[in-house]
Amino acid sequence: MKFFKTGIVKDMRFLNHNPGDFHPESPARLESIYRRLEMSDIAGVYQEIIPSYATKEEIVLIHTKEYISSIEATQGKEVVLDADTMTSPRSYETACLAVGGGINLIKAIFSEEIDNGFALIRPPGHHAEKDRAMGFCLFNNIAIAAKYALEQGWAKRVLIVDWDVHHGNGTQHAFYHTKDVLYFSIHQYPHYPMTGRMEEIGEEEGKGFTVNVPLSAGYGDKDYLYIFLHLLCPIARKFEPDLILVSAGFDPYLEDPLGGMQVTIHGFASMAYVLRELATELGHNRLALFLEGGYHLEGMARAVEAIVKVLLGETISLPDLLQYRPSQEVARVIKWHKDNGW
Ligand SMILES: [Zn+2]
Repeated sequence: MKFFKTGIVKDMRFLNHNPGDFHPESPARLESIYRRLEMSDIAGVYQEIIPSYATKEEIVLIHTKEYISSIEATQGKEVVLDADTMTSPRSYETACLAVGGGINLIKAIFSEEIDNGFALIRPPGHHAEKDRAMGFCLFNNIAIAAKYALEQGWAKRVLIVDWDVHHGNGTQHAFYHTKDVLYFSIHQYPHYPMTGRMEEIGEEEGKGFTVNVPLSAGYGDKDYLYIFLHLLCPIARKFEPDLILVSAGFDPYLEDPLGGMQVTIHGFASMAYVLRELATELGHNRLALFLEGGYHLEGMARAVEAIVKVLLGETISLPDLLQYRPSQEVARVIKWHKDNGW
């Protein structure tokens, strides 16, 4: 077993954002994850990273000043921002803390305090556009962290892998015109937010640096891993990122109420293991996961625990893919991307 230094962003202040009693993106999500980690035999083995409130200068790396001010103006109020995104009185400060938690995780990685880590934060971020809240997301935590690492000169290239069951429209759009960030997403399609078609590959200098793998419902561990090993890893070896970020949503989990995929706890751990090995192969170990969606509380908490064990060094035996024949849909999307230059 290898050993890595792993940092976890974990803070009870993330429970202060509450979009409503019946909303799936509830404070209970993080309570469930935190409780699971505290009861686990790995409690205390990882390092806790204390989040700080991001400044407007940091948030403006991705969002417009006007949009930041509009979210700031919701302080003390309950405001409906879109059909499924609302604020509670402390949502703005909590969203700033989520951004700051992601940034502190990246800082700890580049100062070599830790090798890898997991930002267990909320509200989630990957649907947030530069000037619009969407899909439970206020500020795009992972996009801001990626841009921060580039702006600091710590990374020249950042790979963002998004395995949330929904397409990360906000992240895709933030980097659609740049070759410094490669956005790779596997998601259910057609499904919310209806972006993420295969043909969306980036524009201008960014052409080719967005890779979408839209899949119909029903796929599971072997399909995800097949795509990781046969499409994502070869692309990453060519791209040579200095940092791998993951929009880790747990809504592809087989019992998730909002998703239609079949990924198991072991499947999530396996994907994290492939990415950890990839980061090592790339010569730096730098891997940071950001919590996005995930609405089956127990399944998500167990998957997070399994992933933290992988981050700390546990080896996973991957499912045997030798006998596996991808579906026509999976084979077609892989071939399409290879024919298009990867
Ligand atoms: Zn999602």
